[in-house]
Amino acid sequence: MCGIFAYTGKKGKEAGGVLLDGLLSLEYRGYDSAGIFMPEAGVVRAPGAVAELRKKIPKDFKGKSGIAHLRWATHGEPTEQNAHPHSDGSGEIWVVHNGIIENFKELKKKLEVAGHEFKSATDTEVLAHLVEEHLKTEKSFEKAALAALNEVRGTYGIALQYKMEPDKIIAARMGSPIVLGLGDGEHFVASDPSPILPHTRKVVFLEDGDVAVISSDGHKIFKLDASNVHRATTDIDWSAEAAQKGGHEHFMIKEILEAPEVVVNTLRGRLIPEKGLAKLGGLESVAEQLEKIDRIIIVACGTAYYAGLVGEYMLEEYAGIPVEVELGSEFRYRKPVINERTIVLGISQSGETADTLEALREGKRHGALTLGIVNTVGSTIARETDAGVYNHAGPEIGVASTKAFVSQLVALALLTVFLGRQRGMSQSEGEKIAQELKSLPQKIQSILDRKGEIEELAKKYASVRDFLYIGRKYNLPIAYEGALKLKELSYIHAEGCGAGEMKHGPIAMIDEEFPTFAIVPKDSVYEKMLSNIQQIKARKGPVIALTTEGDTEVASVAGDVFFVPETSEMLSPILNAVPLHLFSYYFSKANGYNPDRPRNLAKSVTVE
Ligand code: GLU
Repeated sequence: MCGIFAYTGKKGKEAGGVLLDGLLSLEYRGYDSAGIFMPEAGVVRAPGAVAELRKKIPKDFKGKSGIAHLRWATHGEPTEQNAHPHSDGSGEIWVVHNGIIENFKELKKKLEVAGHEFKSATDTEVLAHLVEEHLKTEKSFEKAALAALNEVRGTYGIALQYKMEPDKIIAARMGSPIVLGLGDGEHFVASDPSPILPHTRKVVFLEDGDVAVISSDGHKIFKLDASNVHRATTDIDWSAEAAQKGGHEHFMIKEILEAPEVVVNTLRGRLIPEKGLAKLGGLESVAEQLEKIDRIIIVACGTAYYAGLVGEYMLEEYAGIPVEVELGSEFRYRKPVINERTIVLGISQSGETADTLEALREGKRHGALTLGIVNTVGSTIARETDAGVYNHAGPEIGVASTKAFVSQLVALALLTVFLGRQRGMSQSEGEKIAQELKSLPQKIQSILDRKGEIEELAKKYASVRDFLYIGRKYNLPIAYEGALKLKELSYIHAEGCGAGEMKHGPIAMIDEEFPTFAIVPKDSVYEKMLSNIQQIKARKGPVIALTTEGDTEVASVAGDVFFVPETSEMLSPILNAVPLHLFSYYFSKANGYNPDRPRNLAKSVTVE
C-alpha cells in the first residue's frame, strides 16, 4: 500500500527536493500522511498531503540522502506521531515501511521488557527498535537489519537508514513491492518505478525475501539467509510524462478519455482477424496445457472482480469452458476443488493486489495452472503466475479504475477467442468477434464526444443519496461496476442488482426519490429489461437508461436516456462501462469531491 522512496547520491543534488518530488509522483497510490528523514537534517512528518509536509520543512533541511514515505494507516490513526519514518530509541536508526508486521505485539512486548520505549501506535516502529537491539551484538548495520528481518512475520517493503552510515540505505521486500533505481553516482529505492524515472531508467525489481544495500555508487542484493543473489536489471521504456494529467483537471477524466487508445493498445499485434484468431505471446509457453484445461476459476477484487464476471459470460458462451469467479479475499478460505486441468486466473491492475496474489498462490499450491491479466509489467502477480496477458493500458493513476477495467474486458475477450479457437469456435465466429473488437475504439470515441450529455445528467441527479443500477446477463456486472464507482467517488449509497432480482427485495426501496440506472442494450434480454423498467416506473422511480442507438421504446418509458453505439452482446459491457465511468466522475465533481482522491481508498491494495 502507499509509497516508499529513498535516495542516496553524491552528485551535489539536494536530497530533500529529490525525495519530495518522488513522493509527489507516488501520491496516486493513495495515502493519509507523509514524512521524510535525512541523516544530515532530521525528520519531518505530517498528516495529510505532501503539500502539508512541504510547508513544515525548514529552509536548512539539506543532505545527500534520505528515506521518505506515504502512509496508508493500518495500525494507529493517521496522525503526525504515527506517520513514518519511525526511529529506534536512540534516534539513529530510521525506517519506512509498507505492509503489516503481524507479530509486532509479541516483539513489542519483548522489546519493552528489554527497556525500549515506543512513541507510536504503529506496527512499523518495532522494526527500528529490533535493529537497534541486534546492533548491540551484531556490530554491523547490515547484519543487525538482517537479524531483525528474520524475526518479523508479515508483509513489508522497507527502507532503513542509520545515522552513522548516511550514504547507505537497506531495502527489503516481503509481499510489498520494492524496486531499486540504478543511477550514475546515485541510487534509489521505491515502491514502483514512477519516482525513479526522472533520474534513471535502469531498475531492479526485488523478489520476496530479498534484502538490498544501496549506496551512492553501488548496490548488492542478498537473501534473508545472507546468501548473495543476482537480480536482472530492467530498462523501463514508458515515460514519466505518460503518468501526468495531460492538461485535464483530474487523472480520472484523462484516463476515461484514453479508453479508445487503451483498446487499441490492448489489441495491438494480438488479432489475426482474417483467420479469426487471437495471438497472445504471453500464453505461448503454456498453449498446449491450455488445450487440456476443463475449468477456469477467476480470482479478483473490486472492479477487476466485475471484469471477471463479464469474462465468465464470454468464456462459457464462446469457449465452452465452465468458469467460476471468486473474490480473492474469499478464495483461500474455501477448500477449492482444483486439479492440473484447472486454470486459476488472477485479474489485477497493479499486479500487487494482496488478496488476489494469495488466491493465486493457493491455486498453485493445489496444482492449478496460474494465469494473470495484469497491467503492471514486472509486478508480483506477473512474475509469479505461469503465464498471462498484459493489459498494456499504461500507468493508471486515478484511484478508481476506469481505463484498466476497459482493458481487462478487452483482454478477457482476447482470451475467449484464444481458448475458444482451441476448442469448438468456428473461424467465422472468431472473425466476427475480431472485427467487432477492432471497431470498438471508434465507437467508444463517439460516446466520449457526447460526454457533455452525461455531465448534464450527473448534475441533474447530483443531490440524490441513493442509486440503484440494474442489468442482466453480460451487463449485470456492469451494473455492479456502475454502483461501485458511484459509491467510491461520491460516498452515497449505490447498489447494483440483477434486474430479475428486483422483485425479490430491492424494489421495496423504490420511490420518487430513489433513481435507477438501467443498462438496456438491444440484446437477448432487452424485453425482460423493459418490463423491469416498467415495474420501477409503476412505483414512480426515476430511470436513466443506457440503450442502443436507434431505440425508441426505452426512450418512451425512461425519463432520461443515453444512446450507446450498437455492438455484439458479448462486447456491449465494454461500451456501457464508459458512460457509467463518466457519470460517476461528473457526479463526484458536482458534489464538490476530488475524484482522484476518494477518501479511505488506496490505488494498490497490498494488504489483506
Ligand atoms: N502498517 C504500517 C502503519 O500502519 C504501514 C502502513 C503502510 O503500508 O503505509 O503505519
